[in-house]
Amino acid sequence: MISLSNVSFRYGDRTPWALKDITLQAVNSLVILGPSGAGKSTLLRLIGGYLVPGEGSLTVDGEPPSRHPLAVREWIGYVPQENDLPRELTLREFLRELTLIDARGGTAEAIVGEIVERLNLEGATERRLKHFSGGMKRRALLASALIRPCRLLRLDEPTAGLDPDEQATILTTIHSLSESCQVVMTTQILQDALALPAKTILLKAGRMAIETSVPELAEAARGRVFAVQGSEELEPSQLWMPTAEGDRVRVLSESPSSRWSELSPTIEDGYLWLLREGGARRES
Ligand code: ADP
Ligand code: MG
Repeated sequence: MISLSNVSFRYGDRTPWALKDITLQAVNSLVILGPSGAGKSTLLRLIGGYLVPGEGSLTVDGEPPSRHPLAVREWIGYVPQENDLPRELTLREFLRELTLIDARGGTAEAIVGEIVERLNLEGATERRLKHFSGGMKRRALLASALIRPCRLLRLDEPTAGLDPDEQATILTTIHSLSESCQVVMTTQILQDALALPAKTILLKAGRMAIETSVPELAEAARGRVFAVQGSEELEPSQLWMPTAEGDRVRVLSESPSSRWSELSPTIEDGYLWLLREGGARRES
């Protein structure tokens, strides 16, 4: 179990808090949503013990992960945001290298074979990593994180920059991994959160705007989403989005006109609403 109590962190004494007053418990998988700079990667680093809270306490399975950083590496896996792979190695060479360094028990070949099969990469083992597509690079990184038998897997924006087909493949893989291991995943793509039956949190400028589940995220915008004729004049502060209907726009507003018709909120509406001043103030 991951448990945070009033955790705050900043990168330097004079820098703003990257995370402020985060209190959270996660027994199963966790999805961390939020825009760039919200503190998602920082939270993943804290959970992995790479960083230590400046204030508050953080434990994973009852212990601060930073207390035994090397022991924790044995069972907390990590897939970083960057696609940093040794370009000239083939997938098999890359995974074998890691197996020699990290694996406990089992022969290197057997471990690599099992992981490659699990991630559907059998056809790619002899190809150099520099020739991999974005989605395959992500899967190769996932494979590298699974060399060790992990109980907790941290994934930092695993679908960023992938096309929809590659995204779907990665999400399917993550979904099946989540059946045997606790997954903590950050993402800016709301549909990603649907891949995991997980507790979801939304970070906004280092603070927790909401702790919820994905379906409940939509509820945050209930009563504030309207269809408006495109010809109608809207205030610049009102957030609107085009709709497929062409002549109507979708508006998020706290002060609707009586001419507008209310719509059912989507998870995007809830997310946008909470990121706006009014929504976040209401939640805090
Ligand atoms: P996210 O992953 O949600 O984009 P980050 O956790 O990377 O957000 O960043 C949160 C805040 O901490 C940002 O203001 C960012 O500029 C700052 N930050 C992140 N990494 C560092 C670092 N290594 N040194 C100083 N500030 C950092
Ligand atoms: Mg990040």
